[in-house]
Amino acid sequence: MDSTLTHQTENPNIKTEDDRTGMSVETLKRAFLDNLFYLQGIDRSQASLHDYYLALSYTVRDRLLHRFLKTVETYKKEQVKIVSYFSAEFLMGRHLGNNLLNLGLYDKMRQVVEDLGLDFDEIIEQEPDPGLGNGGLGRLAACFLDSLASLAMPAIGYGIRYEFGIFHQMIQDGWQVEIPDNWLRFDNPWELPRPDEAVTVKLGGHTEMSHDEYGRPKTVWIPARTILAVPYDTPVPGYQTNTVNPLRLWKAEASEAFNFEAFNAGHYDRAVEEKMDAETISKVLYPNDNTPAGRQLRLAQQYFFVAASLQDLIRIHLRNHANLDQFHEKVAIQLNDTHPAIAVAELMRLLVDNYHYNWDKAWDITQKTLAYTNHTLMPEALERWAVSLFSSLLPRHLEIIYEINYRFLQDVKTWFPQDDQLISNLSLIEEREEKLIRMANLACVGSHAINGVAALHSELLKKDTLKEFAKLWPEKFYNKTNGVTPRRWILLSNRELASLITEKIGDSWLKNLDEMRKIEAFIEDGDFRDRWREIKQQNKSNLAAYILKNCNIQVDPNSLFDVQVKRIHEYKRQHLAVLHIIALYNRIKKDPNIDILPRTFIFGGKAAPGYFIAKLIIKLINAVGEVVNKDPDVRGRLKVVFLPNFNVSLGQRIYPAADLSEQISTAGKEASGTGNMKFAMNGAMTIGTLDGANIEIREEAGPENFFLFGLTAEEVYTMKAKGYYPKEYYDRNEELRGVIDRISSGYFSYGNQDLFKPIIDPLLSHDPYMLLVDYQAYVNSQDEVSQAYRDQDKWTRMSILNAARMGKFSSDRTIREYCQEIWQVNPVTIDIKDYNPANLE
Ligand SMILES: *Cc1c(COP(=O)(O)O)cnc(C)c1O
Repeated sequence: MDSTLTHQTENPNIKTEDDRTGMSVETLKRAFLDNLFYLQGIDRSQASLHDYYLALSYTVRDRLLHRFLKTVETYKKEQVKIVSYFSAEFLMGRHLGNNLLNLGLYDKMRQVVEDLGLDFDEIIEQEPDPGLGNGGLGRLAACFLDSLASLAMPAIGYGIRYEFGIFHQMIQDGWQVEIPDNWLRFDNPWELPRPDEAVTVKLGGHTEMSHDEYGRPKTVWIPARTILAVPYDTPVPGYQTNTVNPLRLWKAEASEAFNFEAFNAGHYDRAVEEKMDAETISKVLYPNDNTPAGRQLRLAQQYFFVAASLQDLIRIHLRNHANLDQFHEKVAIQLNDTHPAIAVAELMRLLVDNYHYNWDKAWDITQKTLAYTNHTLMPEALERWAVSLFSSLLPRHLEIIYEINYRFLQDVKTWFPQDDQLISNLSLIEEREEKLIRMANLACVGSHAINGVAALHSELLKKDTLKEFAKLWPEKFYNKTNGVTPRRWILLSNRELASLITEKIGDSWLKNLDEMRKIEAFIEDGDFRDRWREIKQQNKSNLAAYILKNCNIQVDPNSLFDVQVKRIHEYKRQHLAVLHIIALYNRIKKDPNIDILPRTFIFGGKAAPGYFIAKLIIKLINAVGEVVNKDPDVRGRLKVVFLPNFNVSLGQRIYPAADLSEQISTAGKEASGTGNMKFAMNGAMTIGTLDGANIEIREEAGPENFFLFGLTAEEVYTMKAKGYYPKEYYDRNEELRGVIDRISSGYFSYGNQDLFKPIIDPLLSHDPYMLLVDYQAYVNSQDEVSQAYRDQDKWTRMSILNAARMGKFSSDRTIREYCQEIWQVNPVTIDIKDYNPANLE
């Protein structure tokens, strides 16, 4: 199952006994122990698990490095077109296990470690989960990097090396508590600092009119301060390829280690302060998912990594080209949401101010280079910056944006004279008492391609959020339905299921997930179905053990595992799932002998620290759990668990253990979702609305293998337009009334009737996320789930069909589409046969 790359690493230039990067169990063992001693400087009798983790990681890294260097060298030499994925977030998850798999070393390394009497899984667990992202958007970037490398596509990821990633979540008294995530406290073996490739980034100050050497007017930016951007490269290996692409993350530092002037003048404190100020820029990830932060530091972060990355790309280009005339033929830059949208203005500034291109030529290069992915339909989530804040940080960019806007709106006026509404909606500036810069509009104007992340989302972008741009440039709009990597999300997290699949159909499904369809042929094989069910059962038992250890709650692995893990958001409607739990609870209270399917409700997810309602939803889940879990009438039939600190590592435990995947957002609000794909690939059934990629998942799985409920996006829209009165649903539906009243009565809050008012009151007054409309359809659909689950054989068949039919949702498919339709890049073979890392000749 674990095929290796041995044939590709045999290096004629290195004799076997010299081969410190050999792939045999013996060589690996020696390298592991050498690293422990010589790198960690520790003896086996003294070594901690963390020492073993580092020694193992360096052993793996050694085996990545020559591929990595050869990959970069090949791109340079062959001057191929390269994709640059610009993203403020990369939610990579742990590297060690994934890198072992992609290198084909997983099973061997397990053997090495176990031969030494150590626990492999325990060592893997030592790695801090690098949480440089909030949720789906950052995880998408990570899946894309895996697919790019696995498809041998030339690519670089560019982002920020946050010193503190997404906070660590603890639950105290049912409430979320945030703990700083100091993930770099110990050595990070997966990054290579490249201080010699540092660049400077300017901020603040003002602009002045001046003249160039020919007396032509030009603008100069006199910045207030200069920051050093230091790159750290994390090698990203593809699955069974030699391609190892860089993820280049920038760390902010003071441009002089000490401000010597201030230092010499006796202002030691001021010098140190400046150093600290500079380092603040890459200090911490803003923990907001789907809501803009609106803080100056956030804009500084965005500009910081975009400016550094563009300089880097230009420097690389100018090594082989006399000028930037063909820049767009060698570089395709993808903007992951509007976070890097300042790239439009920065690339224009570089071309016009620094490289003296005339405006039209610079604009042509800029548009041909950039492409923009939109991730949200919710207007409140679109980034807009106050002009005053913007100009204090980026005065020259403000001028450039005004110039772009002026020229753009001139064109619009000639195309659509007298359409004032159109013009004001297209404008890069929102005219308010406080003017705002619309980053989505900037991204649209400056890009040659604009895409949504699922079919419905892309349609709604054209019909609603970006309709004016779609009217101007219909040919710029694309859909690129998201995907996830089957390597991390099946092979690594569900080892046994992957083995079973490979046993039946071979391992080509890992590179071409459409091949998974072949397991449908085994659906009539009772032995196959038993094994399928047993693997799910084992995954559930493993999760149950984790829950007992971490939450001190005993759950029954034979109960239906009903799971909702994702960021906590009103639009994702975790509180709708809670209403269902309470409905079941009330049924039991009314008739303690009622025949009810045993269920374990598992929640997980972080709330933005400033998002009060989301935090209160966490408290509600825990409060309901506390009552339900210990009520003797329930007799253990219902359990409610909130697993703290949902992250990639926890996801790897949870998705494979789910029976039911909750994808219950208000239709039209979830752009795509990717958790929905991970669940289904691992054989969970989905209960969901017609939202985001759920629609396509249902199409692929077949409507008979999907529990559908709720309003369509269109119906949500018309209902809101007509005027929606949620109180009527409450008045008319007795069971719903019982549920809401149960909460309002203080039953889950020790008699406190006010605690959950901020959740309940809006439901009854305006209910913007339409919970009460969808409530009955949801509960009915859940009753069907219970029915279906009682027939375990039928359920297993549906589970197999779901997993078998998720080929479309491999991020390999998504990336192939981007490569062909938007980036125009092609695979590049990396030949390491005659590459001599040690230069021994
Ligand atoms: C996949 C994933 C997400 C996205 O989940 P959705 O259900 O699509 O919102 C968020 N966080 C983590 C850690 C993930 O792995």
